[in-house]
Amino acid sequence: MPEERLQKILARAGLGSRRACEEIIVAGRVTVAGRVVTELGVKVDPAVAEIRVDGRPVVGERHRYIMLHKPAGYLSGADRRAEYPSWQKLVKAPERLFAVGRLDQDSEGLLLLTNDGRLAHRLTHPRYEHPKTYLVQVAGFPDPRKIRRLQHGVMLDDGPTAPAQVILLRQAPEPFAAGGPASESNRRTSWLRVTLHEGRQRQLRRMVGLLGHPARRVIRVGLGPLELTNLPSGKWRDLTPDEVQALRAAARRGAPTDGPVRQPERTTERQPASTPSTIAIDGPSASGKSTIGALLAEELDYLYFDTGVMYRAITWVALARQVPIADEAAVTALAEQVKLEVLAPTVDDGRDVTVLADGEDITTAIRQPKVERAVSPVSAYRGVRAAMTLQQRRIGQAGRVVMVGRDIGTVVMPDADLKIYLDASVRERANRRYREQLARGEKSDLEQVLAEMKRRDHIDSNRQHAPLTAAPDAIVVDSTALDIDEVLVLVRGLLERWATPKAR
Ligand code: C5P
Repeated sequence: MPEERLQKILARAGLGSRRACEEIIVAGRVTVAGRVVTELGVKVDPAVAEIRVDGRPVVGERHRYIMLHKPAGYLSGADRRAEYPSWQKLVKAPERLFAVGRLDQDSEGLLLLTNDGRLAHRLTHPRYEHPKTYLVQVAGFPDPRKIRRLQHGVMLDDGPTAPAQVILLRQAPEPFAAGGPASESNRRTSWLRVTLHEGRQRQLRRMVGLLGHPARRVIRVGLGPLELTNLPSGKWRDLTPDEVQALRAAARRGAPTDGPVRQPERTTERQPASTPSTIAIDGPSASGKSTIGALLAEELDYLYFDTGVMYRAITWVALARQVPIADEAAVTALAEQVKLEVLAPTVDDGRDVTVLADGEDITTAIRQPKVERAVSPVSAYRGVRAAMTLQQRRIGQAGRVVMVGRDIGTVVMPDADLKIYLDASVRERANRRYREQLARGEKSDLEQVLAEMKRRDHIDSNRQHAPLTAAPDAIVVDSTALDIDEVLVLVRGLLERWATPKAR
């Protein structure tokens, strides 16, 4: 604790006004660490100094616990130079209170204020993982897949997030529905209730932003056993004795189990005792392999690696540098020279990975139709495949990976622990691609998509080198009549079977 003037400490301990305390000091009645202090202006640290008046120790101030409904635009810290006011403008109390944990300037909701340092420490230390619950208003309408990604954890710049509880609310929660941005933009938003067990800088905003649904409002409504109920924005109240007791109990035992929020199961706990370390998923376009691969990797906390982006990247570079696609030698030379990097997302735009070619971010560009048209011929070249396979094998050797492509089980990782071949009828796959394009607001024609799909299938399956085919030991899953959730259930079943040696 910082040092403070002695008269201020005495006043707070209830020995009278500051003026009266000054007189007590001047009268020689006060000792600090056994020495009489008579000058005014002496500063001491109240947390460590042994202060006595008339020989009796000055008992520190009583603990106080306040719940504030912090509006946006206020800081949870107390930086005098900051551009925004701190919560201290809203709460006037004689005690020296501080906020337990951060709540960003633009976030709202439950802020716990106290002068109980020990409790604050137990509540904020990452080891104790006290749950915090937020209502989050996000732009757009996150689909179930994105909600699942949030639940399982997403890859942020500073590492993957822990599993979280995420619920998409059917309607805007009362009483928060009315506030916030103008009603027109409010209409194109949704509300999530999210419980986190960790608290990194602007974590929640980064998580939803990463999935393409930037946060409009973040309101903390739960902190350990405390709930923000019926406390209007900008108002505060003392905790009830029951709340203080619940808070102390939670602080003593770590994460509470009897609070309003439940601990989500850790994904690792759900994993079978023994899990395949290398998982190969092959299949034709739009068979669902990237969606399944990414979800599976999230569940297992493995690296998700989509090898298709590498072939797309080489194709994009060839087109950009005007290397004729038909010139095998030139395209192969390019594949050997270009430095490809597939990284965790570096931009919060909903992407699964970031793809760099010689340092240039081409993540979005490799999805262009012109790349789609040229990628199959490029990936049929032996030299191109050799260069890509080498890099992919290196990634596979490290283990704990779900690798997705066309030849992973046959060529890249022929010894993969588990091989899955995802298939679906070409019409169903064309339908999926068509719907995706419409959903992205692109123009599309189903018959054209179907023709293009057949053309790529034909090239991929009939090329001389590493053609698309199921490895003899791959388990074929036909997803024609299944949605993603149903495929995921099947795949989880395969993992469980793998864990039972007899079934393998
Ligand atoms: O999976 P995606 O559609 O992004 O892959 C693009 C193309 O890259 C495929 O059509 C295929 O020609 C090629 N590819 C491949 N081998 C892989 C992955 C992709 O030949 N392992």
